Amino acid sequence: MKKIGILGGMSPESTTLYYEHITRTYTARFGDYGYPEILIYSVNFQKFVDWQHNGQWNEAAREMAEALERLRVAGADFGLIATNTMHIVFDEVQRNVQMPLLSIIQATAEAIGAAGLRSVGLLGTVFTMSEPFFREGLERSGITVLVPESDAQQRVNDVIYQELCRGEIRPVSRQMFLEVIDGLRQRGAQGIILGCTEIPLLVEPQHCDLPLFNTALLHAGKALDFALLPTQ
Ligand code: GLU
Repeated sequence: MKKIGILGGMSPESTTLYYEHITRTYTARFGDYGYPEILIYSVNFQKFVDWQHNGQWNEAAREMAEALERLRVAGADFGLIATNTMHIVFDEVQRNVQMPLLSIIQATAEAIGAAGLRSVGLLGTVFTMSEPFFREGLERSGITVLVPESDAQQRVNDVIYQELCRGEIRPVSRQMFLEVIDGLRQRGAQGIILGCTEIPLLVEPQHCDLPLFNTALLHAGKALDFALLPTQ
């Protein structure tokens, strides 16, 4: 089995979902505790929040590549960047890391394709919704992506950073998310990408009757499958 390296802490609330999902899914599937070994590098998230807001993506990419290299030296065979937003620099980070990285966008595109949907709504940080990297990644797989209007994007973003990344779950915020989801449905979304790894803490399948694509769990599930593949 391959060892999994997780670049986490963005935020810690969602990094735990990865750890839980990989270990619990393994045990549910195979019945024992023989899950792959996992290394987690939890970053100083404030530095990344500051870089995001100052547009210093190169700084963020450099620090991410360094952290992933530390995971590799510590024994990881492949890596995950456990946040959608920071996939904005995925290609640059991959160029500077000597082990494969699994993309959360790719994992999401595969799940949407497998569900046979052609048009989906995307919720995430303002960076994920307004910059092209996530949308274009899906469009390459023939999937149309709808995003909320800019004022709704800002409200969603504020809840992510001011509540969800701190582990605060508020029903009033859930209601706001569900209204945004309803607007996307009216514009033709057949499903919704929870394109921020904390959103599944707030919006769960029982809250919404559209298919929800939980990017954190899709990414973690893909990592488990990859870890179980025989090493080449
Ligand atoms: N975890 C979030 C995401 O999936 C946002 C936090 C961040 O990385 O800025 O995009």
